[in-house]
Amino acid sequence: MYDLESPIEIAKDIYWVGHVLPDDPFQCHVYLIKDGKESILIDPGSKLTWPHTRKKILQLMPLEDIRYIVCQHQDPDITSCISDIFEEIGTEGRSVVTHWRSVALLKHYDWKVDFYEIEEHQWILETGSRSLQFVFTPYMHFPGAFCSYDTATQVLFSSDIFGAFTETFQLYATDADAYFEQMRPFHSHYMPSTEIVNSGLDNICKYPLEMIAPQHGSILKKELIIPVVTRLRELDVGLFLDAGRGKDIRLLTRSNAILAAIFNDVAYSINGFLTLERVLSEVQKLFKIERIIAMGFIDHQVILFDSAQDHAIKTEVSEKIAKSRYPDLFEQQDVRVEKIENLCTIDLGKSYVSYTFVSHNGEGAAVGMMQFLFDDEQTFEPYELEILKNFQSPFNIMLSKTLEFYKLEEEKNRFFSNSITDSLTALYNRYYLNESGKKEFVNAKRYDYPLSVVMLDLDHFKLVNDTYGHDVGDIVLKDFARKIKSVIREGDMAYRYGGEEFVLVLPHSTAEEAQQLLLRIRERVIGDGGVKIGEEALQYRFSGGVQQLENESSLEEMLKHADQKLYISKHAGRDRITI
Ligand code: GH3
Ligand code: MG
Ligand code: MG
Repeated sequence: MYDLESPIEIAKDIYWVGHVLPDDPFQCHVYLIKDGKESILIDPGSKLTWPHTRKKILQLMPLEDIRYIVCQHQDPDITSCISDIFEEIGTEGRSVVTHWRSVALLKHYDWKVDFYEIEEHQWILETGSRSLQFVFTPYMHFPGAFCSYDTATQVLFSSDIFGAFTETFQLYATDADAYFEQMRPFHSHYMPSTEIVNSGLDNICKYPLEMIAPQHGSILKKELIIPVVTRLRELDVGLFLDAGRGKDIRLLTRSNAILAAIFNDVAYSINGFLTLERVLSEVQKLFKIERIIAMGFIDHQVILFDSAQDHAIKTEVSEKIAKSRYPDLFEQQDVRVEKIENLCTIDLGKSYVSYTFVSHNGEGAAVGMMQFLFDDEQTFEPYELEILKNFQSPFNIMLSKTLEFYKLEEEKNRFFSNSITDSLTALYNRYYLNESGKKEFVNAKRYDYPLSVVMLDLDHFKLVNDTYGHDVGDIVLKDFARKIKSVIREGDMAYRYGGEEFVLVLPHSTAEEAQQLLLRIRERVIGDGGVKIGEEALQYRFSGGVQQLENESSLEEMLKHADQKLYISKHAGRDRITI
């Protein structure tokens, strides 16, 4: 698309005259503002690039037309060719334009040239037809660094700011997100603080910007400027503080971005373990991790996540089962008792190198653990271990949210179970009959199978209360409920409907089968000679009405019919069942 062997005009009379060094993600750009005998060379480059830059300039003008050399800072990739330039064209009538802080350093080249200190010239350089405005952006590269803004074309030569690591050379950036990801490691590591970045950006954004021409990376055309500036304002910077002695700043920066994403996921998740699949795929961007296992301990249960399982999250696994499934985790390294090694080899049917995080509560007891499992050939550099260590704190948060979630779930279940259970008899209550009985009714209708509903009522129960007292009445009610439960099948439902009235909902039962079941309850009630009350045995009886589903349009209607049959049983002398 572009002939990189020739100067490329990026704006009116402004040329890219850099040179693409092979396999260098740190490409250095050189720009020339062509202005007759007062032409300006910006950050002219190094001894590696100068022969190529020189050739490009000669395609445009004689070298002698270079009147000003702007050094936005003093690094060798910007300035080391200047001696060669002066050797060829001399210093007479030329100036090196820079900040006083750079002058103090550049004077050591002993060029015998005039230094144009920008602060002595109100931060402006006026040439025949151009006006360069200098923008002070200290500490974004080094204390006395600045950017240069060309008023005529509204191009900002931004030096290190907006610089990026580019794996493949690209003169113009094409996508704000993609370019920002390349900028990220460049800035997040050594930029000292967000305040400094934002104050520099504030200075830059005072100018209308048509184009940003950085010294490294790619040129930003107008449409990318605001999106990139917006992202840069929010960049998490100063990573060198965390980096220790780590050298691979791209890895560090990526890990920082990944940690930020994970923290974000964790913050918005209700059950922290749900984010672990994401953690795995994120960490896989950094390391060749194969599997994640995480556990949270609640009482004698283990909340388990294993990315190698089909359904990764298993709740309510007993500690015994967890131990049998992951013996190495519990035996070789008893996570409950000992402090375990972060890094070790474990055997889970396959040998892994494992990095383990254990989370402790306030009393120092382990409340959970997470393991990153790697191929057993995997080795780690010390700084890579530093990066892995950083996953401890999102895990702690993730775990505490998980434990909280399951405690709440348990509470919710207990609350629900209480709300549907009759406290005296432990049968379901009338409220739950409306819910669950209706479901059975609808299913029986839809799938066309028999359903019977039974109404039961204790006979002369008032007499029991009146004779023996209310407490004894309660004992009888409990005894009856227990006997019902011992006889009904799985899927049958028993409810306490009112005082001494009970309802059974029996799916897949005809009226005759229901009757058989009631006779078995009767055998139980009579068979053991009644309820023991002290020395005495209290005999009681019950009556029943059975309604098999016929043409009823609701459960209520079935109950009404069953109640009518119960009434018949009572009138016929009690202690009997009507179907
Ligand atoms: P019938 O054979 O016609 O059903 O006579 P009954 O005495 O059983 O019927 P009735 O409805 O007159 O009396 C029901 C009694 O059940 C009255 C009430 O005090 C008693 N009862 C209701 N709930 C409870 C309870 O929770 N505990 C005890 N002990 N008694 C209860
Ligand atoms: Mg009654
Ligand atoms: Mg009764």
